[in-house]
Amino acid sequence: MVVRDAITGDERKRIQLSNHEDLYGAPYRLVHRADLHRTLFEHATECDPDILHLKHEVVSFEEGPHGIIVNFCNGTQADCDLLIGADGIKSKVRQQIAKDNSVQYTGDAAWRILVPTSNVPENCRPEQAMGFLFFECV
Ligand SMILES: Cc1cc2nc3c(=O)[nH]c(=O)nc-3n(C[C@H](O)[C@H](O)[C@H](O)COP(=O)(O)OP(=O)(O)OC[C@H]3O[C@@H](n4cnc5c(N)ncnc54)[C@H](O)[C@@H]3O)c2cc1C
Repeated sequence: MVVRDAITGDERKRIQLSNHEDLYGAPYRLVHRADLHRTLFEHATECDPDILHLKHEVVSFEEGPHGIIVNFCNGTQADCDLLIGADGIKSKVRQQIAKDNSVQYTGDAAWRILVPTSNVPENCRPEQAMGFLFFECV
């Protein structure tokens, strides 16, 4: 991955990604989020067409006689063996377990855009099908 100066296009850093397999047991991959979501969706619904329940926002959970009872904002409940709280940075599940769920802003911010490769100056184009970053510290 190549990191370049946002103003001049000069190369600032080159990050080696070819050793990922040795370090992590799998190669470095870039995948569009929509493709990842579609793949997960297809495989999940292949296993069970009724596996997803939309408009079921978790508000709380409690221990029941046979496992966990999850309460949703639409007034329904689910009785389950295991609850995985994969509900993001403002997780309701984590809030109930850990109480302090506050998020602290680090002061850093990133803006991202997509640009067709043909619009990128020739001397700045990536040599491989890889993402590359422009940055400027202000
Ligand atoms: C603009 C932006 C760009 C990013 N780009 C990258 C990138 O290029 N590469 C990368 O690796 N990471 C990137 N990230 C970070 C990445 O998106 C997050 O680290 C990742 O999505 C976190 O996954 P998660 O499953 O914990 O939470 P989320 O992806 O936030 O998923 C949480 C899900 O839970 C649902 N949910 C929330 N509350 C409830 C509730 N009470 N009940 C039921 N459901 C609920 C939400 O609707 C959501 O679907 C980016 C983040 C942002 C904001």
